[in-house]
Amino acid sequence: PACLPEWVLKRAAEEMLDANGSGMSVMEMSHRSSDFENILNGAKDRLRRLMNIPEDYEILFLQGGGSLQFDMIPMNFLKNGADVINTGQWTKKAIKEHEKFGKTHIAASSAEDNFTYIPKITNEDLDPDTDYVYICENNTIYGTKYKELPPHDGKRLIADLSSCILSEPVDVTKYDMIFAGAQKNIGPAGVTLVIIKKDMIEDRPDLPTMLSYKTHADANSLYNTPPCYGIYMCGLMFEYLEDVIGGLENMQKINERKAKKLYDYIDSSKLYSNPVAVEDRSLMNVPFVTGNKELDAKFVKEAKEAGLVNVKGHRTVGGMRASIYNSMPEEGVDALIDFMKKFEEENA
Ligand code: PLP
Repeated sequence: PACLPEWVLKRAAEEMLDANGSGMSVMEMSHRSSDFENILNGAKDRLRRLMNIPEDYEILFLQGGGSLQFDMIPMNFLKNGADVINTGQWTKKAIKEHEKFGKTHIAASSAEDNFTYIPKITNEDLDPDTDYVYICENNTIYGTKYKELPPHDGKRLIADLSSCILSEPVDVTKYDMIFAGAQKNIGPAGVTLVIIKKDMIEDRPDLPTMLSYKTHADANSLYNTPPCYGIYMCGLMFEYLEDVIGGLENMQKINERKAKKLYDYIDSSKLYSNPVAVEDRSLMNVPFVTGNKELDAKFVKEAKEAGLVNVKGHRTVGGMRASIYNSMPEEGVDALIDFMKKFEEENA
């Protein structure tokens, strides 16, 4: 679900009828107008500063969600093959698409343990003949997160950061491409952010025009009509993170404090447990179970009645999951813990 701070929503409301003195809503602007181009370029500049993105990386605002990247990546980059580390649903989907385009080598997988940990690999686990290594850095459904990037034997590294981008600083230079659907930490659904090393982008007239990264890079993400309002909202989010939060180091501290509270409580509780290997725990997604399916269902139902929505775990995992994205205030985590305590007392 989209998660946006009140600051961003209020700014958007204030500017709804008159964005940047243009006398109109961003939704009414031509994407070819200088007003909109300023919004787009302003968002890119903010993001470049915020994430410390070097000039040899291009920033693209695309459409089609994270899921279209599962196709565009192999279409554009898979020549000899790709190594993928399977850490759950979102790499399984990427693997399925990769297999349509060429050799897809599963370098490692945590499937046998229902994806409760991040497999640790060495260069020997990789196929020597592949073009890149593909990972999903934060596994939304299972609550696992790479704390260190895997070795990739000098190959390109492509990473899905859909559910952890902007939650903490990252060293962009360690990746050749990062992508993320906007709808968790960046802005409303409908925008897909791609940060890509410029030397990855090749002229590919053989590909469908819209599916070639070069099309979008050459046109500054304005080849066709982009999701203008979504890009504007992303720009407001970047402004908020830079000027109100004070940067990603501060965002990380806030996220670590929120997550620690919740994990500490779960670990101290007799009723709940978190199935994830401690060293691989996500800051964003915290799954937990009571160990009893009926009690889990009761929890989800009563939590909803208490105003705590979206706590049901993914259907492939069951139990509960708290998604504590950037915009979830600490009071939201406190309210969840209070509810969990009360539920534990009542159901001990
Ligand atoms: N990758 C990750 C890590 C996700 O969590 C999701 C959706 O939740 C996706 C990819 C798919 O994104 P989309 O729905 O934008 O296609």
